[in-house]
Amino acid sequence: MEAVQAQVLSHYRSELVERIRANGHVLSADGLLTVKLAKEFGFCYGVERAIDLAYAARKVFPDRPIYILGEIIHNPEVNDQIRAMGIKFLSGKEKDADIDDLKKDDVVIIPAFGTEVAMRTKLQEKGCQFVDTTCGDVMSVWKRVRQYSKDKVTSIIHGKAWHEETKATSSQTTSGGGHHLVVFTLGETDYVCNYILNGGNKSEFLNKFKGAHSEGFDPDIHLQAIGVANQTTMLRGETEEVQRRLKTAMIQKYGAGEIEKHFRFFDTICGATQDRQDALEKLLREPMDLLLVIGGYNSSNTSHLAEMGEAKLPTYFIKNAAKMVSEKLIVHYDQHKAEEVETSDWLPLGRITVGITAGASCPNNLIEDTIRRLFELRGVSVRELLDIK
Ligand code: SF4
Repeated sequence: MEAVQAQVLSHYRSELVERIRANGHVLSADGLLTVKLAKEFGFCYGVERAIDLAYAARKVFPDRPIYILGEIIHNPEVNDQIRAMGIKFLSGKEKDADIDDLKKDDVVIIPAFGTEVAMRTKLQEKGCQFVDTTCGDVMSVWKRVRQYSKDKVTSIIHGKAWHEETKATSSQTTSGGGHHLVVFTLGETDYVCNYILNGGNKSEFLNKFKGAHSEGFDPDIHLQAIGVANQTTMLRGETEEVQRRLKTAMIQKYGAGEIEKHFRFFDTICGATQDRQDALEKLLREPMDLLLVIGGYNSSNTSHLAEMGEAKLPTYFIKNAAKMVSEKLIVHYDQHKAEEVETSDWLPLGRITVGITAGASCPNNLIEDTIRRLFELRGVSVRELLDIK
């Protein structure tokens, strides 16, 4: 593992980022530009472990075909690197192989988000060998929802029904004989609360949550005892609000004295997500002109960092430095439109301060590229500024 970790480090480390970290997370070119890095940003322990294990798999099985169920984490550059190592993707736009083609003893990497129970069973039946990189924090959520199922409590999962992690978590409830419903927004939460309190049109309910509930889920039966859990990378404040609203509805329906029979809650946001949100919250209290959030556009935790920024100041969610086309133009992800958009005159003239953060799946070398590009746009060479290569 030591050799593997050194290799991973060589691909993703950044001397510049380490220098800025050691310098109080600030880099400044007097009179022109100050960059402030959040205190916590970038790769989390779960992501580092997943990448280390994938690299290790390549070393342990140098001559055998290795497959991966899908993106190891939500970062395009990291996935390209995995592909460059000859690891074949079993899903996604650039799928290289099909699950049905897998044979006994084929090596299959399970990404950090985990996978659905049915998929694991299918691979086991084929006799595949797993390299399981599922994050321990994701498995903790599984433990919670399995317990809910065992106790005949329906899991209400605050998350994205289409996200790999939430799909995997949802499958844990049904494999344990239970039910689940995934809610994403506060509007959806209110709809569920209203149904709990007043009933409603069952087919409309099921249609609204199509693809986000277990098979056989009946809102008239399965909302009588509920337990809230969440995707590990949600926004803390929103998750708390989801559970508060559901708890209030259950108290109104069954009374405070009976609440323990009808409502449970476990906060399953992971420590890494929380640390990055807390650090950004702190950074956002400082005066800044704009915020850059770096990460894959399908990364849940990164999208929430961008959401936090948007609420306070001009925020640009970019996947790499090339998106800062010029001082006049930036191409960035608009998560509300789910597409890249262009903004002109994004970099204000005069002396400015730019905040930078990055999601848990973003490597330091991409953060470095962004910082270098930013200074370059202001005509400053970071190499000369810090006297590094
Ligand atoms: S973001 Fe959290 S749950 Fe996801 S891999 Fe990192 S530590 Fe694990």
